Amino acid sequence: MSFINKWLRADIQDINAYHVPDALDMVKLDAMESPFPLPDELIGQYLAYLADEDLNRYPNPGAGELIQTLRDLMDIPNDFGVLLGNGSDELIQLLALACDTGDTILSIEPSFVMYGMIAKFARLNYQGVDLDDNYEIDTNATIKAIENYKPKLVFIAYPNNPTGNAFDRSAVEKIITSTNALVVLDEAYYAYADDSFLSDISKYENLVLLRTVSKIGFAGLRLGLLIGSKDTVTQLDKLRLPYNINTLTQVSANFLLQEQDEINNNAKIIIEQRQILSDALSKIDGLKAYPSQANFILFKAPNANDLFENLKDNGVLIKNLSSAPRLADCLRVTVGSQNQNQQFIKIVEDFYG
Ligand SMILES: *Cc1c(COP(=O)(O)O)cnc(C)c1O
Repeated sequence: MSFINKWLRADIQDINAYHVPDALDMVKLDAMESPFPLPDELIGQYLAYLADEDLNRYPNPGAGELIQTLRDLMDIPNDFGVLLGNGSDELIQLLALACDTGDTILSIEPSFVMYGMIAKFARLNYQGVDLDDNYEIDTNATIKAIENYKPKLVFIAYPNNPTGNAFDRSAVEKIITSTNALVVLDEAYYAYADDSFLSDISKYENLVLLRTVSKIGFAGLRLGLLIGSKDTVTQLDKLRLPYNINTLTQVSANFLLQEQDEINNNAKIIIEQRQILSDALSKIDGLKAYPSQANFILFKAPNANDLFENLKDNGVLIKNLSSAPRLADCLRVTVGSQNQNQQFIKIVEDFYG
């Protein structure tokens, strides 16, 4: 037995590490990344902007300029507070750190796996509540679970990952008003959705949102944000590590996120492509594409494992969810560029043809 096996908590040793597959030279449609690179004409300006920074100095601790850039991009009112994270994953972790020993995190399932994993890392209880057969919130079961388990935090991804739908708004409102928990609506896919709870922050004291720039073209920057009342953000900010947003991220985001037209136009293209992809998948006999408000589509396919392997053999990587609970035969494909989507759909059509 090695030193670390004797030293480390048994529950951590038992965890299967979060596996990110290599995607060398593949059409990468597995991780909800944007297919759009930085426009060529911006590269020179961008590099000049970066070269201006003093990397011998610590980053700007409050990142005030970056927060203002994000307020402009996402229309965040000035009377809401903004807390920045090294990805929104870090903010999920920060919220878990704010909990007390014995507290419970509740989420609906299937949803984003990090809620459960981070609960475990932080030694908190975790309670999942199943969605119904259409992947909608089972309001009665959720309210009952809230009464039973008295969670400290409730995470709801809106739209949800991996199912892609945005839940019925009134179900989410009922959850917010039925609990003393802090309700965290994770709007990682806000750019592709028809609805948002941003303005509801002033209505509900116990509501905060998470957003990220990962799904709108900047996954490599690692930048997420929590939006809540000023009081809430001031308190939670005490748990943020100093300088958690590095200089290169701050400067890059300040420059790149100015391109609002480009970012919004890219989102529009993805939404159009999502429709085309969804129509093409639905036309295939026996295959069911679930409605999506995000930049990916969940679909149920006969022989899903074989299809997944066939796509991989043909150089296209998507996400195989078929062995996850409640997701039998389900695969998830990220909406890519028109060309990537055509490659993907051709392979799927040939597989069943
Ligand atoms: C992708 C994703 C995140 C992670 O975002 P990062 O900012 O890249 O850490 C958070 N929540 C959901 C629901 C996601 O799908």
